[in-house]
Amino acid sequence: MSMEGEPKPIEQQPELKNLREYLGLKEGDIERVSLLKAKDLPGQYQAQRESLHDEKLDGITIAVIPDDLWIKGSQPSESIAENQLILIKQSYFEAQENPDEIAWLCHELAHCQNFLDSESPEAYQSNMQKFAFEDLKTEYTYPNNPVEQFAFTKQFQYLKEQGKSREEVLTMLGKYYHEEDFPFFNKLLDSVYGK
Ligand SMILES: [Zn+2]
Repeated sequence: MSMEGEPKPIEQQPELKNLREYLGLKEGDIERVSLLKAKDLPGQYQAQRESLHDEKLDGITIAVIPDDLWIKGSQPSESIAENQLILIKQSYFEAQENPDEIAWLCHELAHCQNFLDSESPEAYQSNMQKFAFEDLKTEYTYPNNPVEQFAFTKQFQYLKEQGKSREEVLTMLGKYYHEEDFPFFNKLLDSVYGK
């Protein structure tokens, strides 16, 4: 792993130990994961962090996962907010052309922020089990829950500030979500872009 200074044994790095278990990695494979702090993100990602205006996020750990160890399929990022950890697929993170155009990093950082500002870890967890909009109830509370509502709203606000139109945001989301999720996204986009 690339970290500054002398690498500590994995047992002294709880975030790595969790990560190894989470990804089901073999002993040697964890060494291929690069870790960095949010405040040290490369320049092209700094605007996403800064858009959240929160110094608490500086210490969030970003784990860049080699593609062959990635377990989340076509989803390029994930946050484990309770561990203050964000996972991102290496090829996605290092893309040269329009890196992270849809601002998933902002979304994941917003999850970490939401967790840090929650009354308790339980409160954050229970918000994932609630519907954000009762009138859009389906079988599942994903993504229609207050936790995703918070993260997507921050993400859409950032994209709007970057000059992305509502239509452009919808097109980008279409790569990752199904038709039935769009009433939820449209409600959030109404709040960010106006009806
Ligand atoms: Zn999310």
